[in-house]
Amino acid sequence: MAESSNAPAVFQPWRDPNETPYVSIERVTKKFGEFVAVYELSLEIYRKELFCLLGASGCGKSTLLRMLAGFEQPSSGRILIDGVDMAGIPPYERPVNMMFQSYALFPHMNVAQNVAFGLKQEKLPASAVRKRAGEMLELVKLGAFAKRKPHQLSGGQRQRVALARSLVKKPKLLLLDEPLAALDKKLREHTQFELMNIQEQVGVTFVVVTHDQQEAMTLSTRIGVMDEGELIQIGTPTDIYEFPQSRYVADFIGSVNIFAGKMIVDEPDHVVIHSEEAGMDIFVNHGVSAGPDADVWAAIRPEKMHISREDPAREQNCVRGIVDEVAYMGDFSTYLVKLESGKIVRITQPNLLRGNPDRILWDEQVYLHWDASSPVVVTK
Ligand code: ATP
Repeated sequence: MAESSNAPAVFQPWRDPNETPYVSIERVTKKFGEFVAVYELSLEIYRKELFCLLGASGCGKSTLLRMLAGFEQPSSGRILIDGVDMAGIPPYERPVNMMFQSYALFPHMNVAQNVAFGLKQEKLPASAVRKRAGEMLELVKLGAFAKRKPHQLSGGQRQRVALARSLVKKPKLLLLDEPLAALDKKLREHTQFELMNIQEQVGVTFVVVTHDQQEAMTLSTRIGVMDEGELIQIGTPTDIYEFPQSRYVADFIGSVNIFAGKMIVDEPDHVVIHSEEAGMDIFVNHGVSAGPDADVWAAIRPEKMHISREDPAREQNCVRGIVDEVAYMGDFSTYLVKLESGKIVRITQPNLLRGNPDRILWDEQVYLHWDASSPVVVTK
């Protein structure tokens, strides 16, 4: 059997190989009655990471976050933060703060009072409270809004007040549950960059729960993809996108064309997959840990396929089809192409020319081809 060279060359800029994890989640299971919300989940998160838990609704992300915060107790397994077992330690004694989806700002308090609230409970002198709250408001660029009430702010500004309030007590670990869910798309994208900048400035470890894959890709140092209470892949955004280890991950992150097939050649440096769906043999220029005759799937991203009217006269990885749909998206166009097998394949192409008169249209016969390095081969 050939060794897999699908494994990514992982670049982990945050990580010193001798560093001990800041958060260790060890085989944690959480049951609600008979229902298993999180199952035997292990994960290590390092200082200053911005780690995203990503998964479909109900997969257990928030439950895991709530266990880190101390609002839920694991049914089995343990959680260590900075080497200390968190069993029996209440939320307010953990070096952790949580920012909720709703932000939960106090409507009758102004922005400065909202941010200072946590510090007042700590009975610090008034001058120290003012100074620290002021610093936090500057950090989130809301110094000029200190006297406003929450209802006098935009959604993005409210989000930043909530962030300032969560950071004011200098937690070592900040947990954010869908922090940008209340914002519209444009503001969300803008705020993602702000969040990353702030995290870099304060150096706090962030764990963010989201079901938005784009958000996870933009924000994270690493992503943990969850499905039905289990972590099914952990990696950098590039690992997850370019080297998914299963059809589920390939399909969940971005869009992908998946061709079912059988391995008919299994060499250390290349494999060939016979695929009825593709109506061809797919040549892949790297080894795969699967074995001859194994059922496998070749996953190819739409932007890694080329479409042309002319036959590119390639011996490998070229297939003919008819354009079924064209969607003009401004910066790129998406083509849905029906192969002779009946399979519909998605291709995206950048729109390099303005108003290109030679663009490919519906019902045209086209050729699709891709590089032998483009398919990711998965066995599940
Ligand atoms: P979403 O993105 O929709 O918030 P999620 O991945 O955060 O989803 P969780 O809130 O962790 O999901 O819930 C995981 C599963 O556990 C769900 O099926 C949910 O119904 C169940 N669950 C969560 N809390 C409880 C509870 N207190 N009692 C019973 N079941 C619960």
